[in-house]
Amino acid sequence: MRVLGIETSCDETGVALYDSEQGLLAHALYSQVGMHADYGGVVPELASRDHVRKLLPLCDQVLAEAGCSRADLEAIAYTAGPGLIGALMVGGSVAHAMGLALDCPVLGVHHMEGHLLAPMLEEHPPAFPFVALLVSGGHTQLVRVSGIGEYELLGDSVDDAAGEAFDKAAKMLGLPYPGGPQVSALAEKGIDGRFRFPRPMTDRPGLAFSFSGLKTYTRNTIEALREQGDLDEQAKADVARAFEAAVVDTLTIKCRRALKAADCHRLVIAGGVSANKRLREALETMADKQRAEVFYARPEFCTDNGAMIAYAGCQRLLAGQHDESGIVATPRWPLDSLAPIP
Ligand code: ATP
Ligand code: MG
Ligand code: FE
Repeated sequence: MRVLGIETSCDETGVALYDSEQGLLAHALYSQVGMHADYGGVVPELASRDHVRKLLPLCDQVLAEAGCSRADLEAIAYTAGPGLIGALMVGGSVAHAMGLALDCPVLGVHHMEGHLLAPMLEEHPPAFPFVALLVSGGHTQLVRVSGIGEYELLGDSVDDAAGEAFDKAAKMLGLPYPGGPQVSALAEKGIDGRFRFPRPMTDRPGLAFSFSGLKTYTRNTIEALREQGDLDEQAKADVARAFEAAVVDTLTIKCRRALKAADCHRLVIAGGVSANKRLREALETMADKQRAEVFYARPEFCTDNGAMIAYAGCQRLLAGQHDESGIVATPRWPLDSLAPIP
């Protein structure tokens, strides 16, 4: 089955063509980050309007790259949530209009299921069951995955997501959005151990996360340095290093616990923060000791993209699922409410 995947949940327009026999045929991404930069965050109305401008040209570009025409499409998958309502509506409207014109099935896909399954696009995909760490701009979750749609939530953040914490730390350090890659690059120049930041909620049992205290700690450290006149480039790099180490350590401790609790030897990491080099290294080291294996997607498929939506949609479309009554746009949508594939 040849499926066009459309991602428009936030500030990235992603399109991809996935074929269940031949694999990924083409993909393209248009990021709006430059447009939102002046506002210090994503402006929902601007995001929707830009998806309207970019989505159809991007679809044509992907089809051309794959040497296909619209008539070659056998199904269409789009992100139905969670995300910004207006942005989601753009993807859903285009998907359903195309489906109507081409007389092919259309399916709304859960954005986090897309992230979760993105490592399946790589050469050595994980087998079920596995434990997944979803770490993105809006989520920090540990999930036990027994199959597609069989998700048991093991742990969640009580406040900020890890990616959000990276973005806020970046802002405090005067770095642009999205902050994850920026903080990580600055941390490269930092001195390891000059500062030690807290590892939130690791001193008690359980798999919950909290990153807002770490954010405050980071702000206080930066303010103290500024007041002392010591906030030079090296100090900023040292703060970035300590911040990244704290996030990586916290995530690694919880992943080790989750593998043990689930009695599992496969760990999948997905979402934007899973592109982080230090996190990958720390998880590999931890997993080696547990005789477990770590799986992740190539960096461009860790953040938002159309390929993960085409892939996830394809699995469900193959099982006969499709939207029964028009466009689905669900801004809030818990992952563990999804149904397994029959
Ligand atoms: P969600 O998927 O939860 O709805 P989102 O779609 O905004 O949120 P993603 O696109 O998956 O999130 O990821 C973006 C996040 O990943 C941003 O917070 C960004 O700072 C972070 N990120 C990207 N690359 C890195 C990196 N190398 N290190 C740390 N964080 C990173
Ligand atoms: Mg984004
Ligand atoms: Fe995302």
